[in-house]
Amino acid sequence: MKVVIATSNLGKLKEFETLLAPLDWEFYSLQDLGIDSPIEDGSTFFENALIKAKHAATISGYPAIADDSGLCVDYLNGAPGIKSARYAGENASDADNNLKLLNSLKNQTQRNAAFVACLIFFDPNSKENILSAEGRLEGEIAKKSYGNDGFGYDPIFFISDENKTLAELGKEYKNKNSHRAKATKILLEKLLKEKS
Ligand code: IMP
Repeated sequence: MKVVIATSNLGKLKEFETLLAPLDWEFYSLQDLGIDSPIEDGSTFFENALIKAKHAATISGYPAIADDSGLCVDYLNGAPGIKSARYAGENASDADNNLKLLNSLKNQTQRNAAFVACLIFFDPNSKENILSAEGRLEGEIAKKSYGNDGFGYDPIFFISDENKTLAELGKEYKNKNSHRAKATKILLEKLLKEKS
C-alpha cells in the first residue's frame, strides 16, 4: 500500500520509515508528491496533526500519517504547547525559544515539563478512517543549555534518571525514548492489528 508521511522534515521521515517498516508499506514524503504544507490553525496537537494528515490524503488520494508535537511546561500551564516552534516569535530560532523559556522560568523551582507528540493515520477511502496515538516524554527544564546533539528544546530538556539533557543523550536515546518514538510504536501496533 502507498502511504504519505505528511512531513517535509527528512529526519522525521527516516525515523517514521524505520519504525513503521513492519507494515511493509511504500512511504512517500510531501516533497516526493509535490504537496505543500497546510496552515496549522488547530488548537490542539490532535487537531493540527489531523489537518496535516487530511490535507496530504485529500490531495494525494493515499492514506496519510501526520504528527504534531511540542513542549508543555507545567508552571506555564502547558505553554509553549502547539506554539513551541514560534514561542519567541514567528521566525524565532531554537536559541531564541530556549532563551525565552529559560527567562520565563527564572528563579522557579517548579520546572516539570513534557514533550508530547500526537500521530494520526487518516485513510480517505475507508469509513473508520482515523487512528491516533499520543506519546509523552517527561523531564525538567534545566537552568541553562547543555549538549549539542539535538534540536529545538533538547539542550534545556533534562532527564533526571540519566542526569543529562536530551542534547547530551543524543539520537540513539531519542530514537528509543522520545515522545515521537512512543507515539509511533503505539500507532504501529494499532495499524498491525487493523491489518490482521
Ligand atoms: P513539530 O511537531 O515539528 O511542528 O514541532 C514543533 C516544535 O516543538 C519544534 O519546532 C520544536 O521546537 C519542538 N519539538 C518537538 N519535538 C521536539 C524534540 O524532540 N526535541 C526538541 N524540540 C522539539
